Amino acid sequence: MQHHVPRRPLLRLGLLALSQVGVLALWWLAGFKPGLAALAASHGAVLWSTFNPRSQLLCPALVRLPGDAPQVWLTIDDGPSEDTMPILELLDAHGARATFFLVGERARARPALVREIVRRGHGIGNHSDSHPQTAFWRLGPGALEAEIAASQRTLEELSGTAPRWFRSVVGHTNPFIAPVLARHGLTRVAWSARGFDGVRCTPDQVLARIEPGLKPGAIVLLHEGAAHGHNVQILRRLLEAMERRGLKSGFS
Ligand SMILES: [Zn+2]
Repeated sequence: MQHHVPRRPLLRLGLLALSQVGVLALWWLAGFKPGLAALAASHGAVLWSTFNPRSQLLCPALVRLPGDAPQVWLTIDDGPSEDTMPILELLDAHGARATFFLVGERARARPALVREIVRRGHGIGNHSDSHPQTAFWRLGPGALEAEIAASQRTLEELSGTAPRWFRSVVGHTNPFIAPVLARHGLTRVAWSARGFDGVRCTPDQVLARIEPGLKPGAIVLLHEGAAHGHNVQILRRLLEAMERRGLKSGFS
């Protein structure tokens, strides 16, 4: 699969800064009304991109697989957890492959599970070191570097290979994330289908939300270890739905 590490991430930051110089110039030359409108529009765009997981403005992201092979990329966030072993058994039983986006400190707490994921032929991605759910979107360059580098170090030590994929915490990004990803050779992976299975839900609700997007090239976002305890059952139902539609799982 094509690998999209952010290119010229500092240029992206520079253009963002330059846009604000442009706003000031407009305000100066054309008056406060167009100036204020441009200011609101540019800040609105940055805010929208921060909280919209599929936006490419602040940091490029894969949102689907290239081509139209009958293939789906299963991505499972937030492990390792008590669900990891049952999930691995289930994937094996269906001959399926997935990528696990792991949290560094959870990986250090359950190192054997990280090795088991790799031993069974699945992929590993970086999903931050401490999963700062409410603060991730407002972290500065230093804090982002610390979160991402610590997880990258742990996952490389445990799996033998540095991850190439990164998933933002709760899907948020900000203007400082692209340079950090570029430094670590990481590509941000978003998704094309999700069922909101990380929060309170029933398997029926989750499947109903995912199924419309279950088509060739889909990247499906799943979770493990959620408090509701349904994550393994949700994956079982999803694998069955994929088999009914002739879709295979795959990743590179
Ligand atoms: Zn997460």
